[in-house]
Formats: sequence, structure tokens, C-alpha cells
Amino acid sequence: MSFEDLPMEVGVIYEGERIRKGDMQVELGGPKIEKKFELVLAKKAAEVEDGKITVVGPDLKDLDEGGYHPLGILIEVAGKEVEEDLEGVLERHVHEYTNFMEGVMHLNQRYDIWIRISKKSFQKGLNSFKVFGQVYERLYKSELPIIEKIQITFFTDPDKIAEQFDAAIKRYDERDARARGLKDEEVDVFYGCTLCQSFAPTHCCTITAQRYANCGAISWFDGRAAARVDPKGPLFSIEKGDVIDEFKGEYKGVNQAYKEKTLGAVTEVCLYSAFDKPHTSCGCFEAIAFIIPEVDGLGLVHRDYKGPSVNGLPFSTMADSTAGGRQIPGFHGVSIEYMRSPKFLQVDGGWERVVWLPKAIKDRIYDFMPDNLRDIIPTENDVSDIDELKRYLQDHNHPVVERWTETGAAARLEEEERVEEAAPTTQASQPFMMPGQMMTTVPAAGGSPGFQIIFKNAKIYAEKVIIKRLDEKAKK
Ligand code: SF4
Repeated sequence: MSFEDLPMEVGVIYEGERIRKGDMQVELGGPKIEKKFELVLAKKAAEVEDGKITVVGPDLKDLDEGGYHPLGILIEVAGKEVEEDLEGVLERHVHEYTNFMEGVMHLNQRYDIWIRISKKSFQKGLNSFKVFGQVYERLYKSELPIIEKIQITFFTDPDKIAEQFDAAIKRYDERDARARGLKDEEVDVFYGCTLCQSFAPTHCCTITAQRYANCGAISWFDGRAAARVDPKGPLFSIEKGDVIDEFKGEYKGVNQAYKEKTLGAVTEVCLYSAFDKPHTSCGCFEAIAFIIPEVDGLGLVHRDYKGPSVNGLPFSTMADSTAGGRQIPGFHGVSIEYMRSPKFLQVDGGWERVVWLPKAIKDRIYDFMPDNLRDIIPTENDVSDIDELKRYLQDHNHPVVERWTETGAAARLEEEERVEEAAPTTQASQPFMMPGQMMTTVPAAGGSPGFQIIFKNAKIYAEKVIIKRLDEKAKK
């Protein structure tokens, strides 16, 4: 497959490329745009005009430089083996293939896409969505031969996006609902995904019927379909094997898969805990479950939440502490669909441990929250800081308050110890982020000026810090 006729290069080496605001020609989707989407639909052969690429609205070259623009990407595919169950997985490849383009950055998925195009690639000639379409067409057909026909439509007209957006959300919801009837105990096989290893080399998702993929884009059914048609691809089956602990969701087969897929960096995972050998988090998670130590509870915050959450930290700051393919007890990437699961963080107390979440998430999953809790878990409309949160939880008899008693304190201590024990097994403990810069001066001997070391935005990890007082003799 050749891309030589295209204005920029295309290849795996460009995955992970970051495009800073100052270098971007345009931003498409992203947090400043409310409605955006990418959607892959399985169609009948007669419904797809192979190779057709359409732009509805202004093309790339007509978008304001440095501006923020809406975008919808609709990819329709057909082939004898193409079925609806594959849509989610095929759609996830948009992330990968877009990132293969030199000077293009793609983050997230579904209704949450965030794309930047660099000035450099734009100036080289990447000034039309038709080029994007050509890249998708070639990669989809060469990497996934089951796709026999493909047509691609880019929407940049906000009215057209609004029309298509509702249909896209409906389709995502239908896919998510499909896996809801199935229980993890009823299947012998889970599915793994390593699509995000190019960004987080020790990350591997385990997709079960009751623990949806972190990105919220791949269900157990999607995993099954993908592993069947592309057994050598990034989605694969995992035999559960012997049960180590059913309540925690720890299985020998899953642990073995982690050992192999992370080359030994991660060896044990409990699927339903944010603290005890937690599932790894790449960077694509839809939301984060985060510890709020002051109330011994868990907060939830999603990617689109604007402003600081109840602990004063925005999603982006906590995402930095959560991502990277690590197991960070208390900072755990999750999907919105997993919040609808009866197994949602059951090891940690499930919904009884959740003490705060944004109203936008609550509205989406309200019917799936336990009856006795849904109205006593506050949102940003009820509390704005930890002091208010504490009072609210007490006033509403939230079950987490029980944990503040003596018995609760004992349980907490046990859990803290577990967290401490778990920490050394992670690939890297949560680094300490040094915003801005830190400077230290190292004096040289003999009266010469020495030198300075400047750490800019450093992340520092130390197993132990020892501070020693130097006695006068030693100083001499
Ligand atoms: S978040 Fe998980 S399931 Fe989703 S693409 Fe990445 S590795 Fe695959």
C-alpha cells in the first residue's frame, strides 16, 4: 500500500504525535465543541458506493486558521463478513488510522473526538478532508480485508452534524444495551484489547460482559466479533481459566494474558476494583473514579466535565495521574457503560462508595443507580468543595459516613495497607508532578561557580527520600 501520492507521510511512527495549540492549523471537535462524532456503520453492499468521499460543509482549507470547528465522520462499510457486531471495533480504528497521518492528532472516540491538524502538514497540502478519506479507505481495506466496500462522509456544517449526532448517539446506545443482559459468570471467555499500547505500552483492556472497555467503545460482543474475523489483530480472546476470586474478578487466565501482553509489567488484575490490583488505564478512558481521602469515598468525573471537580482538580490533572498503562490504586479509568454494570467497583463498595459525580453523568445513568442512593449522591449543583461534601453526606446519611466510625476506620486502615502493598507491583507509582520549574544549584569545588540543574514540568518518582543533616566535619 502506498501513500506517496499524498502530501504528508502516513505510518505507525506518527502515532503518539502531540500537536500543541501554537502549532495547530485547526482543532476539530474537542472540549470547546459540543456536538462531534465518529461513527462506523455496517451496511449492505448495495448501500455503499466504494471509494466515495464526501464533504458536507466547508472543507479543511476553508476553516479559520487556529479556530475550533465541529466535525462528524461517518464511515459506511460493507462486505460478506461485515456485521453490526463489528461496528464498535471498526470505529475504534479511526483513532489509530488518523494518528498514522503525519501532523494529525486524534484523541478519544465516539461523541468525544478531538483532532488537531498541524500547520506544517496543512502547508504541505493536507488541506482537504478528501485526503483523510483516502487514508481511511486504503488502511481499512488493506488492514481489514473483510471490508470490501467503503464510503466516507465528513460533516462540518453544524446543522448537518446536529442531525447526524442524534442518530449516532442512538446507535452507540443500542450497541451498549446489547451486552447488558449477559453476566460475567455465564461466559468462559473474555476479550482483550491492546489497541492503545502505542500510547501506553503496558495497557491492556479486559472486556467482559459486565466491565465495558475503558474507552466505552467496545463491548464483549464487539470483542467476540473482532477476535473471530481478525484473530491476529489487537483484539483477542482470553480464556478465564481458574477463578482466583469471583467477587473481585480475578482469574488465572486474565492474569496470564496480562503477563504476556504487557511483557511482565502487569501480572495480576482484579476487574472490579479501583484499589486492589486495579485494571490498567491507558489514556482513552471516558471517566475517572478517584479517591477523595477526606471522606473515604470515590468521585467520578468524565472527560467533558468543565472546571474543577469537587476535590479542586480538573479531569485533565487527574487523567495525568491515571493514564499511562499503570495500575494506580485510587485513580482508575472507567467507561460510562461500566457505571451501569451491577459489578461496578463492587470490591470497593460499588455505588455505596461513590460520593460525587457530575450532573451530566448522573443524568445518563440515573436509572441504573441504586434506588436508595441516586438522590443522595451530590453533583456540582449540590456541593462545590470538600467541606460542603462532608456536610452533605452527613445530612443525607450517605452510607460512606459509616466508614468514618471506628469500625469504618479499621476497614480504611486495612485498605490503605492493601494500597501500599499493591503500589510496588505497579509499573510505576504515581509520579509527583512538579508544575512550572524547579531549580537546584550544585556548587563546584575550588571556588569555581558550579552549575544549575533546571527541571521543567518534571515528574519525579522516588522509592525513598532520605534527608541527612551534614555535621560540620563532613562539610569540611
Ligand atoms: S481503551 Fe481499551 S478497548 Fe478501548 S481501544 Fe484502548 S485498549 Fe482497546
